[in-house]
Amino acid sequence: HHPQRSTVWVGPAGHQVPIGPDTFTFIAGPCAVESPEQTVDAARMAASAGATLLRGGAYKPRTSPYAFQGLGIEGLQILASVRASTGLPIVTEVVDARDVETVAEHADMLQVGTRNMANFGLLQEVGRAGKPVLLKRGMTATIEEWLMAAEYIAQRGNLDIVLCERGIRTFEPATRNTLDISAIPVVQALSHLPIIVDPSHAAGRKDLVVPLTRASIAVGADGVIVDVHPTPETALCDGPQALLGSELRDLAQVVRQLPKVMDRL
Ligand code: PEP
Repeated sequence: HHPQRSTVWVGPAGHQVPIGPDTFTFIAGPCAVESPEQTVDAARMAASAGATLLRGGAYKPRTSPYAFQGLGIEGLQILASVRASTGLPIVTEVVDARDVETVAEHADMLQVGTRNMANFGLLQEVGRAGKPVLLKRGMTATIEEWLMAAEYIAQRGNLDIVLCERGIRTFEPATRNTLDISAIPVVQALSHLPIIVDPSHAAGRKDLVVPLTRASIAVGADGVIVDVHPTPETALCDGPQALLGSELRDLAQVVRQLPKVMDRL
């Protein structure tokens, strides 16, 4: 029923950032919100590289229950204050249906992560929250299952959904997951929803962020979401995939030279 591909607008009226076929959206920020200083430093790095949305996890879905789980509400408050000082709208993950309202009060876009793509109760709650949703692909999900997860959100009246390919689990251990680059054109043929790529979480290695970003642009992705950290070696979460500010600016240079984004960033 949607012959034209959709654009999703994120952020407060007057400062909305588009994600869709007519632009290329560059999202960056720390994997996890660790402190006000670390978040503001990462946000400045993101802004100076040309990112227009800030990412950062306050609730972290970690494989190990002993790993850093995020600052929770305090992290949301840090994100909200960094938005006030930088003007960057915020995308942050919600992992529990009971937190949707609180996260939606602080964030401009709600992220559903790979581990929760098929958490249907959570999908229904974010569908009711009145904020755009970034729906990551489950690491073991087929494209059809992923699109059906989006339907759970849409069914609750929210069509502001952006899909994010972030790698799937394969037999190959050289990267954390295998970026399924073919998913981008396959999804675009099946769905009107915008689709972006997370090369940081797909690879788990920062040396692959530039080549995977190039590949994503080449196949027509509508944007990328990338980790940046002022001191990756001390990061509480996923330091090996985080770029430094200078590396993020180099990445932005690469992005700007590619046809879809020339003259837009
Ligand atoms: C994240 O973006 O912070 C994250 C945990 O990603 P994923 O759900 O893709 O692992």
